[in-house]
Amino acid sequence: MSDRTAPVVVIGGGIAGLLAAHELARHGVAANVYEAGPRIAGMAATHTDEDGFSYDVGAHFVTNRFMAALGMRAACRTLPRYGEVVRLGPDRHPLYPIGLLGVPRFVRSAIWEKVRRPKRDLLVAADRFRRDFGRALADEVALPLLEAWSGLPADELSSSVIDKLPTSLAKTIWLRAAQRITRRAVMIGYCKEEPSATGVFHVYPEGGIAAICGHVADGLASPVQVSSPAERIYTDGERVIGARIAGQEIETSTVISTLPINRLSQLVEGTDRLDRFRRFQFRGLVLVNLKLTGRQLLPEVIVWTPKGFPYFRVTEASLAMPWIAPEGKTMILCEFGAQPGDDVWSLSDEAIIERCLSTIGPMIAGVRERFIGASVLRQPLGYPVFALDYEPDRASLATEGTGIAGLHSVGRNGEFDHILMEDTFWRLRRRIPGIAQEHLKATHDHHVMSRPR
Ligand SMILES: Cc1cc2nc3c(=O)[nH]c(=O)nc-3n(C[C@H](O)[C@H](O)[C@H](O)COP(=O)(O)OP(=O)(O)OC[C@H]3O[C@@H](n4cnc5c(N)ncnc54)[C@H](O)[C@@H]3O)c2cc1C
Repeated sequence: MSDRTAPVVVIGGGIAGLLAAHELARHGVAANVYEAGPRIAGMAATHTDEDGFSYDVGAHFVTNRFMAALGMRAACRTLPRYGEVVRLGPDRHPLYPIGLLGVPRFVRSAIWEKVRRPKRDLLVAADRFRRDFGRALADEVALPLLEAWSGLPADELSSSVIDKLPTSLAKTIWLRAAQRITRRAVMIGYCKEEPSATGVFHVYPEGGIAAICGHVADGLASPVQVSSPAERIYTDGERVIGARIAGQEIETSTVISTLPINRLSQLVEGTDRLDRFRRFQFRGLVLVNLKLTGRQLLPEVIVWTPKGFPYFRVTEASLAMPWIAPEGKTMILCEFGAQPGDDVWSLSDEAIIERCLSTIGPMIAGVRERFIGASVLRQPLGYPVFALDYEPDRASLATEGTGIAGLHSVGRNGEFDHILMEDTFWRLRRRIPGIAQEHLKATHDHHVMSRPR
């Protein structure tokens, strides 16, 4: 082995860590992936239960483009449909976002707002949503949803959260039309790093979303080291010099972390540069999967519920992926915004399932007769919260990274950004060549300096 192959330390065996190691290998740099838990995949895990229902913990929706880039397209099925609606009333479910244009009061107030308010930078989410969408749509739909999945009032949130939403209405209409014609779930809004197009559509890997992690892990030169938590990252104040993993000291000049950025800052020694990220907050989710008899119980795959329900969204993923539930049965996922320790988080499984059953009746008739069982998952890292309070630090993380040479924080939680798996992939594809070069140079310089003269 030459001096130039000292492995990069990759922290986390979720999709981001695995993709980072995969991309480093493409650039001739060895990496070891350390996962704290007993298995890989993190938030991209898939479970199949004894009744034959298959659940993806976080992600459900990936594209043919992403899967082709990983060499997995042949092992995926194409989704026949995908759609999102907003529940405005018992029989009113306009398609998101196009159908909302059919609601006269939304259109009137959006036009009024555009005329009345000059286009200028608005830093507060509530102001920006009202200006961009109109007061009626903002107050009745957008802001209640934003507050449910952020856990903060919209006037305490940064307007930069809006940049995370798909914006071009004309393109959305075009893509919806393509969906109808091609009878494929053309991707709208699931990736921002690469453009949407009529030829980019949703697919689903055989074996579930976790199969993506399995495939990437199998292609790595070194197996992922599970039950190996990163405990410390050592710096000399300016740059990374090593790490402690599961009690073992490791020399390295490069660490790629997929940990939540607020957690990463607690691991770093020798500098206080990351301390400002400690107060960043994530919004948790309680995910309740109801197993029911019947199919097509919801009007669309995703129904947003800005009002009248304790959960902000319900999903019938089997409308898009019929194979994840046994014939004649379905699953309805109810998503509650929650914070570890709060009232919703602390409800027992029985109590939160009962909350779903007792409130979902207006959307699903006879839900109790249909009920077969349910599973409950508490996910503390649902969404990064873009609080106004720390917006300058969030923006600096996005543009300047950690500020410590050799320490790279990547992925949805590491970058503290509303990105999905494909975004993570393309971002890594762009970032890794520079990281690989920097690593090879640092390793080489280190060996030159430490060589006896
Ligand atoms: C409700 C929901 C729905 C979503 N839907 C979609 C979707 O449809 N499509 C899509 O593309 N994306 C979706 N996503 C996003 C996607 O699931 C995540 O972006 C992705 O799984 C995050 O991967 P990651 O590797 O960045 O983080 P994680 O999956 O969290 O991986 C981090 C890993 O690090 C490990 N770890 C923690 N501490 C340590 C330590 N000290 N040392 C070593 N390892 C450690 C953890 O155990 C974990 O395995 C969704 C997310 C949520 C929450």
